Amino acid sequence: MATFQSPRGTRDILPEDQPSWTHVKRVAEEVAMQMGFSPITVPTYEELSLFQRAIGEGTDIQDKELFIVRGRQSNSDEERYALRPEGTAGIVRAFIQHGMQTRTQPVKLFSTIQNFRYDRPQKGRYREHTQFDLEYFGDVSPFADAWIIYTSWRILERLELHTVQLDVNSLGTEEERIHYCKKLSLYLEANAEALSEDSRRRIHTNPLRVLDSKDRNDQGVREHAPTLADSLSESSATHFKEVLSYLTTWNIPFTINPFLVRGLDYYSHTAFEWTVNSDSGQQSSLGGGGRYDGLMKKLDGPHVGAVGVALGLDRVVELLATQNVPVPKSKKPDLYLIAADEKGTVFCTEIIPKIWQYCPKLHLECDLGKVNVGNQLKRAVKIESHYVLVIGTQEQESGNFTLKNLRDSTTEHYSSLESLLEFLKNEG
Ligand code: AMP
Repeated sequence: MATFQSPRGTRDILPEDQPSWTHVKRVAEEVAMQMGFSPITVPTYEELSLFQRAIGEGTDIQDKELFIVRGRQSNSDEERYALRPEGTAGIVRAFIQHGMQTRTQPVKLFSTIQNFRYDRPQKGRYREHTQFDLEYFGDVSPFADAWIIYTSWRILERLELHTVQLDVNSLGTEEERIHYCKKLSLYLEANAEALSEDSRRRIHTNPLRVLDSKDRNDQGVREHAPTLADSLSESSATHFKEVLSYLTTWNIPFTINPFLVRGLDYYSHTAFEWTVNSDSGQQSSLGGGGRYDGLMKKLDGPHVGAVGVALGLDRVVELLATQNVPVPKSKKPDLYLIAADEKGTVFCTEIIPKIWQYCPKLHLECDLGKVNVGNQLKRAVKIESHYVLVIGTQEQESGNFTLKNLRDSTTEHYSSLESLLEFLKNEG
C-alpha cells in the first residue's frame, strides 16, 4: 500500500472518471448562463465568524463539522478562518462587500464550489464535496423562488436523470417561523421522552430540524405536531401559492412536504429539495434551496431579497452512473506523430509549432522521447488516435507523407507538408 492515502472522506477523481464531471459542470453552467446567471468565484476559506454568524448555532455544520484553519505562523485568535462548509455565506459576503445592490437588479450568480464538512464519511457523503450553487438577489417576489427551482430543474432535466422528485414547503416569514418554533418547542417538550437524543437536544436550539429527522421515533412524534402551514399569514400563503402556480405552468412536478425544513435558520418562505430513490430504496438528496432574505440582515447587508439552491454534484455524477446515462466521452487525439529515426525526431520536433499554426484546434499526441516505432504505434492505437503520421529520414528528405487513418485502416499520400496540413485543418 502507498505510504500516503487521500484523507478520510476525500477522493481522487481520476482521468477516466473526469468526463462525467466535465459534462455535469458544463451542462449546469450552460443552463445557468441561459437563464441569466453570471459566474462568481469566492475564496475557499472565509473568516470563521462569517460562518458562525451566517449558519447559527444548533446546526451540525456549525457545531461539529467546520474545518477550522489557521496559518502556521499565526497565533492570533482574531485570525481564525474556516474552510467553507457551504457556498451561500461567502457569496452573500461578496455581494455586500462589493455593494452589488447598486447594480441593476436582480443580480443572479452561480459558482461551482468545493465544500468541506467534517462529517462521518459514507457513500455519497464526503468531507470534501462539490456543489453547483445558484443565488438570485434583489427580488422578493415569488417569481425569483420559482426561477431558482426552474433553473435547477432544467439542469437535472438536461442531464437526463430519471425519477428525480421535487419536495416544496413554505417556512413563512422569519417572524411567523419564530412564532411557530415556539409552538413547536412546547409540543416537542411535552413529547420529549419519545424523541431521539439528537432531537431532544434541538428542542430549543433548532426545533425545525426535528421535523426532518430520519429517526422513526421522531417521525412518530412529528405526525401530530402543529404544522407550519397553519401558522402562515395570508400573504405568506399567497407567496407560496404563486410559486406553485409558476411550477405548474412550467410543468415541473412537485410534492408539498410539510416536514421539509432547511437545516439553516436563515431561510424563509419557499424551501425545496431534489431527491431520488436509490437502488436500496433509500432516499438521497441531490440538492436543495430556498429563500433566505434573513441572511442579508444577519450579515449587516442591504435588505434585498435572496433565493438560492445548491446541487450536490458528487451525487449527481454518481446517479448518472447508476442510471446508465450516457455522457460525452473525452476527445480522442486527432493525430499521433511518430518519429521513425533520429532525423525524423528532429523534423517532428521542428514541425509541431507549424502544425498548430495551421490547425490550432488539432489534438496532437507524440512521444518523441521513445525511439521504438512499434511502441509508439501501439500507444497511438491504445489511445485511439484518429490518424497516425510516421516521419523518418525518407519523409524528411522527399517531402512525401503517408497519413494512416486508424479508424478505417485507409492511407492517404501527400506530396508536401502544406497539402497534408491543409487536410488536417478540417479534422481538429
Ligand atoms: P446542503 O448544502 O446541505 O443543503 O446540501 C445540498 C446538496 O449538497 C445535498 O443535497 C447533497 O447532494 C450535497 N451534499 C451535502 N453534503 C454533502 C456531503 N457531505 N457529501 C456529498 N454531498 C453532499
